[in-house]
Amino acid sequence: MACLIIAEHDNSTLHTVTAHVVAAAKQIGGDIHILVAGSGCASVAGQAAQTDGVSKVLLADSTQYADQSPELLAELITGKMADYSHCLAAATSLGKSVMPRVAALLDVAQISDIVRVESENTFVRPIYAGNALTTVCSSDERKIITVRTTAFEAAGQNPVSAPVETVENIGIPETHQRKSKVISRELTQSKRPELGAAKVVVSGGRGLGNAGNFHQLLEPLADKLGGAIGASRAAVDAGFVSNDFQVGQTGKIVAPQLYIAIGLSGAIQHVAGMKDSAVVVAINKDSEAPIFQVADYGLVADLFEAVPALTAALTAALDQEQTPV
Ligand SMILES: Cc1cc2nc3c(=O)[nH]c(=O)nc-3n(C[C@H](O)[C@H](O)[C@H](O)COP(=O)(O)OP(=O)(O)OC[C@H]3O[C@@H](n4cnc5c(N)ncnc54)[C@H](O)[C@@H]3O)c2cc1C
Repeated sequence: MACLIIAEHDNSTLHTVTAHVVAAAKQIGGDIHILVAGSGCASVAGQAAQTDGVSKVLLADSTQYADQSPELLAELITGKMADYSHCLAAATSLGKSVMPRVAALLDVAQISDIVRVESENTFVRPIYAGNALTTVCSSDERKIITVRTTAFEAAGQNPVSAPVETVENIGIPETHQRKSKVISRELTQSKRPELGAAKVVVSGGRGLGNAGNFHQLLEPLADKLGGAIGASRAAVDAGFVSNDFQVGQTGKIVAPQLYIAIGLSGAIQHVAGMKDSAVVVAINKDSEAPIFQVADYGLVADLFEAVPALTAALTAALDQEQTPV
């Protein structure tokens, strides 16, 4: 038994989600190998090799993989699967795009978004927007799995690097005729931590009224706490922020230490994306809002008064902490 893990990276840095996927693979057992496919990504292979529990890194470094085309990656992975019983990736946009293609090419069922490993063939995953958990037992010879990374503690670092093996004969012609190709990528530039990995998330909803209020009220608070900004789908649909800020069933799944929900009702589809947060604080003027059912601390108040007051109180407290005695 051996697991092949698909590394997520930007050709220079290994994304932290990969270490969470390794943690899931460790619970399955057997050898763990990481596949790093990209262009000019040798340094990523070096980082992957230092992940605890990994016994080998496969490096497929070719200009073909520069744009991380899911079609091409799926063919590469499928070509390697003769040596593996399990293939795992994070349930991110990349994993959700690549892994169904791998499952289809291998003619097996995909096992999506697992939150627990019961055995090498039995896994637990959420259904109905996280309102129920189902236990799935697969009899397929090869298991193609996406992992909800917030459900697994990241594997640590190993000072001793695993060997890196170059994937020489990839077997995919350079002229591979793809049905789709990546035209361009636009990266959101932000000084704040990435939403999926942030320890603090300040999230806003429709109650903020417009984009100006959203930024003016939430950004100073997030910056004081060193947190990321999140949003409900209503806030995204209203154009307050772009959809990469959306938290929920059809957005990002987050599990920070602190989640502050401001002017959002707490619809089940939103809660599905944040209910594993360690501490939830809700500010809403409606005491019946469902968000209060999942909140550890709730403030029934007008956000236009409560949020500036909270930011000012935090500023004063932090200033006092920094004042030399
Ligand atoms: C298939 C499907 C998938 C979905 N996926 C997602 C998803 O991933 N993420 C997501 O968020 N939603 C998702 N939704 C939408 C979801 O059902 C809700 O419509 C949405 O979350 C509501 O956003 P909201 O809480 O910002 O807005 P509302 O429900 O309108 O809530 C606004 C809240 O602001 C409060 N408020 C208003 N003014 C103030 C004030 N001055 N001070 C304090 N509080 C105030 C109100 O009391 C209210 O509770 C999905 C829906 C479907 C059908």
